[in-house]
Amino acid sequence: MLQLRPNCECCDADLPPEAANARICSFECTFCASCADGDKLAGHCPNCGGELVARPRRPAAKLAANPASTEALHKPLGCV
Ligand SMILES: [Zn+2]
Ligand SMILES: [Zn+2]
Repeated sequence: MLQLRPNCECCDADLPPEAANARICSFECTFCASCADGDKLAGHCPNCGGELVARPRRPAAKLAANPASTEALHKPLGCV
């Protein structure tokens, strides 16, 4: 199951499971759209070099049984 991490690794912006501006790579590194799509990352994950794509939103009815991750990762050093 996809981890829905609660924040952007670069700027620590909140990314709740319903966020439309969450971006994610194949390793589930998670970023906000302004970091992912901006000049800083230009659509690529700074950790693995893979593509960042829009994170699918889990239907609210499924979140109770399959909750989003609460484990925040913040690694701004990779984002300069
Ligand atoms: Zn960000
Ligand atoms: Zn990655």
